[in-house]
Amino acid sequence: MLKMDYSEIQPIIDLHTCIQGEGMKVGVPHILIRTSGCNLRCTFKGSICDTAYSSWNPEKGKYSLNDVVDIIIMNPQIKCMLITGGEPTLHPELLKSLIAIGRAHGLSISMETNGTIARGDVLDEDTYVDVVSISPKLKSSVPSSGEFAEKHAKTRENIPAIVSWIMESKFSQLKYVVSSEDDIKEVERQVRKIKKEVSKLDPFWPVIVYLMPEGDTEEKLAEKRKWLAQRCIDLGYFYSDRLHIIIFGDKRDA
Ligand code: SF4
Repeated sequence: MLKMDYSEIQPIIDLHTCIQGEGMKVGVPHILIRTSGCNLRCTFKGSICDTAYSSWNPEKGKYSLNDVVDIIIMNPQIKCMLITGGEPTLHPELLKSLIAIGRAHGLSISMETNGTIARGDVLDEDTYVDVVSISPKLKSSVPSSGEFAEKHAKTRENIPAIVSWIMESKFSQLKYVVSSEDDIKEVERQVRKIKKEVSKLDPFWPVIVYLMPEGDTEEKLAEKRKWLAQRCIDLGYFYSDRLHIIIFGDKRDA
């Protein structure tokens, strides 16, 4: 790994403490690091991705690795790091450096990815993340028109890449944002394909699936919560709410 200059500004656009609001580490305090840039351009029911400042309109980086070290030192009570985006795997060297910093400070490391880029294209065998949260994007996220529509449609599903993260991480979860029965049908089709490939490699390897209601306000989440919780019971998937939205709304540094 190339040694990065710790004082140089990196494509890091958010750096703050937070409560993890989704999935298997819900409620756990983390140091959140958000990288800028994404290879997808999601739309959800007419609105664009809720971190459009990291995807549709990517901001320039604001923070250095020294800033990351400083916030870890200032918050010794926090034992977990969350690397999110945008799409963090677009920055392999930065990702490796963040993981190395987290390890050096004894933090558990989680990373969120859209699952379109294989683990082997980003990390070497010896560099691992404790929890990889893979959020594949469904057909309903494809922009209806514009320059990104075709690229998004072609890129959004990469089963071998998803399988690589599941097989080569300590813990992993698939986390789908859903808003309709059509979304759930697509999740079922995709999960079947993923499980088939995983079971060829290890029949006992766990594939953990969370469904989350789509919505960036408490009102929108509330509309879908009961329906989706019942569908999770019907199908045997795990339900995840979006705790950070319930507590803080869509406030950026929450
Ligand atoms: S993959 Fe994530 S960050 Fe990228 S456009 Fe979609 S929702 Fe936004």
